[in-house]
Amino acid sequence: MTNFHTLIVGAGYAGAVAARRLAEDGDKKVLVLERRPHVAGNAYDCLDQAGILIHQYGPHIFHTNDKRVFDYLSRFTQWRRYQHRVIANLPRDNPEVVPAHKTTDGRFFFPVPFNLDSLKNAFGTKEGERLGQKLLDAYPAQSQVTILELRQNSDPEIAAIADYVYEHVFVHYTMKQWGQTPEEIDPATTARVPVRLSADDRYFQDAYQGMPLNGYTPMFEKMLDHPNITVETGVDALSRLELADGAIRLDGEVFGGPVIYTGQADELFSFRFGPLPYRTLDFGYETLPQDYFQAHGTVNYTVDKPYTRITEFKHLTGQVKPGATTIMRECSRAYTGAEGEIPYYAIINADNNALYAKYADLAAQYPDLHLLGRLAEYKYYNMDAIAARALALTDELL
Ligand code: FAD
Ligand code: UDP
Repeated sequence: MTNFHTLIVGAGYAGAVAARRLAEDGDKKVLVLERRPHVAGNAYDCLDQAGILIHQYGPHIFHTNDKRVFDYLSRFTQWRRYQHRVIANLPRDNPEVVPAHKTTDGRFFFPVPFNLDSLKNAFGTKEGERLGQKLLDAYPAQSQVTILELRQNSDPEIAAIADYVYEHVFVHYTMKQWGQTPEEIDPATTARVPVRLSADDRYFQDAYQGMPLNGYTPMFEKMLDHPNITVETGVDALSRLELADGAIRLDGEVFGGPVIYTGQADELFSFRFGPLPYRTLDFGYETLPQDYFQAHGTVNYTVDKPYTRITEFKHLTGQVKPGATTIMRECSRAYTGAEGEIPYYAIINADNNALYAKYADLAAQYPDLHLLGRLAEYKYYNMDAIAARALALTDELL
């Protein structure tokens, strides 16, 4: 007989926040099983061979408007104040326009999200200012507008701006990231990066933003460090779990308490209805013998190049390390389920949501089973949203 009250599969945000809450506020004995050799899920960071702190599963910047989430996580870390800024790097396709800011090697740059300063770089200072005023007049009560909304504006000059932004920011990047056009994907996805009706060049505008001062992994280690929590890494929970007839067995014995599962919903049920589609990423790391490679944490290649973006970790983490820097290029492709591939992004659309609903219905036949997290819920959630969901679920369980 196991003496654990709760079983949690996965030690990412969903699993770790839920574990700590139940262990601490509920005085429950919690067992966390994690397949990877480390905790922190996709937020995991570590030193690379050159001693640079990198994010192994893609660049993670913490931002939220949820005070409860920020306060909760702040118990386990101090924060480095950091405001993420991103620029687009693209070929200069109209030599007659003189961008407001610098250009090099036939390329030019502008802030993403596309904002009133981006307009000046794209159309030249004077024309950019005039068009910016036109946008402000067209949307007097808004601080931003989505690209899909902007494309519906029938004013010819605004339509021309919309075409420009669509072509130079969205269509090629979205094709690289999703293999589909902005119209074909969930509108909420491109809405994450709106057109800004101001000169605010921060990628996120949330009230709380930053990076865990010593990295994400130490924050998770502290969160999971509680006498009521046992973490086993390098363990595939599915090799020890059995779901049949409404009962969940762990190592052959019925597990009577709650089971919080944060892995893939389709995998939990042996892909019974077919696999849920995902996008995966290939990360190309490069360490260079120089202080910095680029001026921003992330540079998006919105028109050309096979990769979507290059991130330089030292900008994010604030690490001081003269003479060495590590950058990472991201290439997206369809997830095939092959060994070692990671399902990073759920592909949200009506068909896939319907397929997911079949798995969710199956899960509902197990009263103690809770699907929680970006994979288990098949959603495009940020870190703070997952932490909020873990707090909400544990509110219910407590
Ligand atoms: P995960 O972090 O995926 O954790 C799930 C864990 O479960 C994994 O560790 C997995 O190994 C484990 N697991 C699965 N199956 C099993 C099993 N059978 N047995 C044992 N363990 C199992 N969010 C932001 O807020 N800001 C960002 O800047 C940001 N950048 C991102 C960049 C990229 C490239 C990606 C892909 C995501 C980004 N996110 C960002 C989102 C963020 O990664 C997620 O919101 C967060 O990691 C979700 O936490 P989770 O616990 O649901 O899932
Ligand atoms: N996007 C784009 N060009 C950009 C940035 C984003 O077309 O320069 C679109 C693209 O479809 C992307 C989505 O907006 O997948 C969301 O971007 P975000 O940066 O939020 O993606 P994430 O960091 O989650 O990969």
